[in-house]
Amino acid sequence: MTRADIPVRIRNFVFDIDGCLAVDGEPIPGAFEALAELRDRGYGFVFLTNDSYLSTAAWRKKAVALGFDFPDLEVITAGQILIQLAADRYPGGKVLLFGSDALAAEAENLGLKLLPTERGHEADVVLVARSPSFDYKDMTAGLRALRAGAGFITSSMARAIPSKDGPVPGTGATTNAMAFASRRRAVIAGKPSALAARTCLQIAGFDRRHTAFVGDDVELDIATAKRVQGFSILVLTGSTAVEDVMTLKPRLMPDLVIDSVANIPRLLLA
Ligand SMILES: [Mg+2]
Repeated sequence: MTRADIPVRIRNFVFDIDGCLAVDGEPIPGAFEALAELRDRGYGFVFLTNDSYLSTAAWRKKAVALGFDFPDLEVITAGQILIQLAADRYPGGKVLLFGSDALAAEAENLGLKLLPTERGHEADVVLVARSPSFDYKDMTAGLRALRAGAGFITSSMARAIPSKDGPVPGTGATTNAMAFASRRRAVIAGKPSALAARTCLQIAGFDRRHTAFVGDDVELDIATAKRVQGFSILVLTGSTAVEDVMTLKPRLMPDLVIDSVANIPRLLLA
């Protein structure tokens, strides 16, 4: 890769986790040291994952177990953004949530009222997150709520996600089952939506002009940065190979392509 620098205005980083900071449960060599150097030099950073199943506390624990043991480390999840958006748009509202117990607890913490499936049609908003137990009864409840005019927000439109036994349906598949049945379209809370970028910046307290988004997935991480005109850095440790970069559409071309997050401190001028 040709040598380029990270602009002086960049003071904060939003890091994708999988494929960027870690691969297959192993940290990227030199990633911890690079982040520790950023901290020492006064840069801010948060982690942003499109997962909607685990709580932010569980994700912090996972990050620490990977070796990213930073005090006050903030891990922002698509699930957290989903709940935050619902609480902002429907304060104290009745929600039909398809998601984990961890997410249900976050919803209650923010004053939302969870409905049982049988009363789903009363919902102000239908929230879709990773929900391995989602079934026909749930789909019916969602359809009825959406037909009755409830709002519709999903954590992600992922078609499938990897698991150790092979791919499993992603949240996008569950969302689209209800979207198809109801002829409604869900608002996307996670990457690559502008909402994900804005809500993440809001939670982190970062200004988009001073923030770089770093990740391995062009359609997710780079697209998220572009939605808010943020600086984008593609790393080649995950789903994108160097050959893929040549054929990218201009709208998805990252501002910078680097081999690994480990290189970041060397590219900082300030
Ligand atoms: Mg990734």
